[in-house]
Parts: sequence; C-alpha cells; structure tokens
Amino acid sequence: MTVPFWIAGKPVTSSSTAVVRHSYDGSEAGSHYVPTASDVEAAVAAAASGADEFATTPAHVRAGALDHVSRSLSQRADEIAQLITAESGKPLKWSRGEVGRAVSTFRWAAEEARRFSGELQRLDTDPGGTGRLALVRRVPRGPVLGITPFNFPLNLVAHKVAPAIAVGAPIVLKPAPATPLTSLLLGEILTETALPPGSWSILPLGNGETASLVQDPRLPVVSFTGSVPVGWSIRDSVPRKHVALELGGNGAVLVCPDWPDLDFAAQRIATFSMYQAGQSCISVQRVYVHTDVYDELESRVLAQVAALHTGDPASDGVDVGPLINEAAASRVASWVSDAVSAGASLLTGGGRSGATVEPTVLSGVPEDAAVMAEEVFGPVVSLIRVSSVDEGVSRINASRFGLQAGVFTRDLPTAFDISARLKVGGVLIGDVPSFRADQMPYGGVKDSGVGREGPAAAMADFTEERVTVLTGL
Ligand code: NAD
Repeated sequence: MTVPFWIAGKPVTSSSTAVVRHSYDGSEAGSHYVPTASDVEAAVAAAASGADEFATTPAHVRAGALDHVSRSLSQRADEIAQLITAESGKPLKWSRGEVGRAVSTFRWAAEEARRFSGELQRLDTDPGGTGRLALVRRVPRGPVLGITPFNFPLNLVAHKVAPAIAVGAPIVLKPAPATPLTSLLLGEILTETALPPGSWSILPLGNGETASLVQDPRLPVVSFTGSVPVGWSIRDSVPRKHVALELGGNGAVLVCPDWPDLDFAAQRIATFSMYQAGQSCISVQRVYVHTDVYDELESRVLAQVAALHTGDPASDGVDVGPLINEAAASRVASWVSDAVSAGASLLTGGGRSGATVEPTVLSGVPEDAAVMAEEVFGPVVSLIRVSSVDEGVSRINASRFGLQAGVFTRDLPTAFDISARLKVGGVLIGDVPSFRADQMPYGGVKDSGVGREGPAAAMADFTEERVTVLTGL
C-alpha cells in the first residue's frame, strides 16, 4: 500500500509515488506519495496561519496529545520496529530499542509541557524600577522546519516533533529520503490526538526541494539533524533564522591505566563501534588506550568483535546489518584500504559484500587518515596507543568535531579534570560516548553543531523570552 503524506493533520496523496528499498536485499520496504510544490505551499501556509491558535492551545491539550503518542508508540512497538528495520537496515533489536526511546522522548516532552512556564523578575533593585515587576514568559519563535537523517527514523523525528508540540509551535517535518515511512506512520498516530490541524505536517521531500523550503520566511526556526556540510550550508544560507544543528562526529574513547575492568571496556567499545553498522553520530571511532593496558585491551576488543553476528537485520540475533546503501559501504571500504596503504594494521575485517561491511578493527592509523579525521559512519574502529592520559586528551581535542567522548577511569579527580578539558558537548565517565538519555541536553561543539536537543533544551530553543512589565505595583 502506498502511504499518504500529511498536510495540516490530513492525509494527502498525489500523482507521484516513491519506493523505499531495504538496503540489505533491495526488496521493497514500502512506498509513499510525493508532495508537489502546491502541497508544500499548503503545508507552510497552514503552519503560518495556525501559529497563533497553536501558541494559545492549553498545555493540558498539548501534554495530553504527547502522552497519547507515547502510549500509542508503545502499543504498536513491534510493528514500528519492523518498519524501522525494513527501511533503514537497522538490526531488529536496535529498532526495538529506538521505539522504546521515542516512547520516552514523547513522555518527557509531555511532562515538560506541563511545567514549561516563565518567571517573575523584580525590577525595583534600582530606583528607576521602583513599583515595577517583569513577567518573563517564553513564546514560540514561530513555525519550525524539522529536518532529520536516516539513522534514527523515529527517535530523531520525535526530538523535533515532541518539543514543538510541547511549546505550541507548528512543525513542518521533512524526514530523510531513505527512511520516510516511519515518520509517515507517526502521522497516523498524531491524527488520533486533539491537536489543532495547522500544528503539524509531514512532507517526504528530496534534498533540492528541502533546500528551497529552508529559505521560506514563514518557517523562522530550522532544526536540523544530519551531516556536517549540509548543516552548516543551511545555517550560512539563512543567517536571519534561528538554526539549530545536530551534526556528525568521530567519537573518541580514552582508556586510562587505572581502569579495572578491561573486559567491560572492550565489550562496550566493540558493541558501540559496530552498533547500527557504525551509523550513529556518537559511534565509537577512535580509541586512545594508555600503553600500560593497550595490549590486553586490543586482544579483548578483537575477541568481542569476533563474537558479533553480521547479516540480515530482520533476523533476531544479528548485531551488525548493512549500511544505508552500497555507495556508503563502498566509501567505508575504500577509507579502510586507504588507511592500510598509509601504514595502518588491519587487525580484523575490511571486507565488503553489497551494502554490508565486515566489522573492522585497525591499529597504528595516522591521525590524518579519513578513518580517524573524518566521520566514518561505518563499522570501523581504530585503536591508538598513547603514552599518557594528557596525550589522549590532546589527541581527542585535535579533532574538528566535538560531540561526545567516553573516558574509562575510576579516579574521580581525573574524571572531573578530563571532562572539563575535553572540547565536546558531553563526556561519559566509565563508558563509551554512544550513550544518550533522551531527556538530557545533547549536542556538539566545533563542527559537530550548535544548540542542544532533549525535550527541555529544544523547547527553550524553539521559544524566546517575552517580557511584560507591570507598573504601579
Ligand atoms: P544528510 O545531511 O545527508 O541528510 C539529512 C537531512 O538533510 C535529510 O532529510 C536530507 O534530505 C536533508 N538534506 C540534504 N541536503 C539538503 C539541503 N541541501 N538542504 C536541506 N536539506 C537537505 O545526513 P544523513 O546521511 O541522512 O545522516 C547522517 C548524518 O547525520 C551523519 O553525519 C550523522 O552524524 C548525523 N547525525 C547527527 C546526529 C546528532 O544528533 N548530532 C544524530 C544522527 C545523525
């Protein structure tokens, strides 16, 4: 069945359709109708004209809708997980995990919607302010254009849609061309709520049409999650808009000599460098290991990687599936052979079959090799021996990216010292950088982006302060 897209809360079809394919075997995952230029115009016009009504929709209606979406996702978890796997190639166990996370993202947004408020500020601290009081409220900046990537077709959509609903800002969502079906199903769930029709639209558009949509002045907020070059080019193209960027990284880990449990560290490193075939913005890519523990850690990581099952992502028990398409797999495999030509040792993996790349571990990789300096977005990890903790910190910081980093140490002063010195948006002590709790502020520094997500952070981002000064009090 070809599924509709959504304009102002209504299902819409058109004369043109697009097929979404499974990256593992090329079979059809589903198909959807493609919006025309006049459909795009209708969605933007509805967002603009519905903004005032939505901004004044009571919090109990918005929070109730978010709670409903959370419950409904939970009830339909199995069906949705299958769809995520079908369109993204993500192993089923991780797709189930993603649905669970989206359930909590919507639930957190509902809770935040209930407490989102303002503050009273006294102004009589200076003689000129005597008898005055300021009421500082946060009001939506205006309709939000949410643009999302392929690697979390539900939860990253949730991180745009849920905070927009929570603050009463209409959202036009533009999912990734490779994985639009899950977000179109979310539209079905949103129709079961009492949200005003102008509050949301979901448009599965191509990149070119999206670039034009970004320019539309009726969408003053752009919340983008995706690759570094596209994100910064969007921000540069609309300097007057409020643009939040959640972009890529080359996630680093530092293993300090005091860390007592190398089996645990190896298991986390192996799992989260290969998780989703490395297609996570906080995948483990560079592992700096103190020389005192390097040899032991290397052999344990190799044992853990050898135990991973690669194959059909729809089969239970598969850990590593295909990349999003064959072109991505071919790029990753060529970066691995370039690293080997530049002097790296291939400890395991390196092979490719169609869109699937073997879990790959390298050592002795030059810092300027693409597998170290760029975002691999594939199942490839590099192990690097360092002679001191300080060397590890400065090599992590030498990257142009700065999303999250993981530090294996049990020493509290070291943990605080390193987490203050690392130039990243988040530091995980005693773990890899690949952990994200959906309620926490999440985002990067340097090329990895600007702004923070997580319902509370995104709600602050989608709104601005409106001051009302009360006089004569
Ligand atoms: P991408 O940049 O190719 O596409 C992301 C979205 O941007 C898609 O919806 C796409 O259609 C749209 N797009 C592409 N060109 C555009 C243009 N010129 N104008 C406007 N929109 C355009 O990214 P991808 O390959 O889908 O996703 C992978 C990237 O996303 C990786 O770099 C990854 O690190 C990043 N990512 C970041 C986070 C985070 O929270 N920081 C989370 C997940 C993924």
